[in-house]
Amino acid sequence: DGKVTIEKLGKVYDDGPEKTKAIKDLTFEIAGGEFVSIVGPSGCGKSSLLYLLAGFLETTSGSITVDGNPIDGPGTDRGVVFQDYALFPWRTVLKNVTYGLEQKGMPKEERRSTAQRYIDMMDLSGFEDRYPKELSGGMKQRVAIARTLAYDPKILLMDEPFGALDQPLRESLQDQLLDIWKELEKTVVFITHDVEEAVYLSERVMIMTSHPGTKKTVVPFDIDRS
Ligand code: ADP
Ligand code: ADP
Repeated sequence: DGKVTIEKLGKVYDDGPEKTKAIKDLTFEIAGGEFVSIVGPSGCGKSSLLYLLAGFLETTSGSITVDGNPIDGPGTDRGVVFQDYALFPWRTVLKNVTYGLEQKGMPKEERRSTAQRYIDMMDLSGFEDRYPKELSGGMKQRVAIARTLAYDPKILLMDEPFGALDQPLRESLQDQLLDIWKELEKTVVFITHDVEEAVYLSERVMIMTSHPGTKKTVVPFDIDRS
């Protein structure tokens, strides 16, 4: 579960006379439960790829399937974590985490206990009634991760999630993410421009390259974690 197949994917932004080819002819597969990082220079198309996977953007050409089903917009099989957390500022920690469960129509008691499980998992117990503005950056990102995990997506799509945090916090969140990945067995697609972070976290690092006039490619290399 959580297998992603990307075939001949293309994305062109039709933004005026200068159309931007963000992704061209990209083909690769991510196994269910795999942890893949995507690194590459600014502007090479990493975020575009992630938002295509999320279903926030429409593909220009080619296809993306999850477990054989073409994706059709956003869905609860995929959860997104953003660099800037994107929490609801008017909702408490608990209400942020229950948000997706409300959308799913889960009854209140079950919502509360499900949310609590992920709040505990992300070391946020005691902070249920705080508002995002009362939390540090690292805590906000832990709330955002709990909110995403709570509705149990098969695939976690992460866009430089630790990019705004200082090194010690980054490291502790990296370890927490690895623990979660091992425990919950989700597919993770992790975007970063930090190669060290990519190698530390992932089973496979995909390097996206872009040079004017050349085809964009991904060059995979496998990490021997034994
Ligand atoms: P990265 O995440 O690797 O920095 P992006 O996917 O953000 O790369 O961008 C890839 C290319 O697409 C860049 O040339 C960028 O300027 C362009 N681009 C990204 N988003 C848009 C958009 N909404 N409209 C037009 N061009 C865009
Ligand atoms: P409730 O669960 O009380 O209905 P939600 O958090 O689901 O509240 O908010 C409902 C909608 O109202 C949201 O989609 C959001 O766009 C908008 N909204 C609510 N509070 C605010 C706020 N303080 N600032 C901006 N938008 C808000």
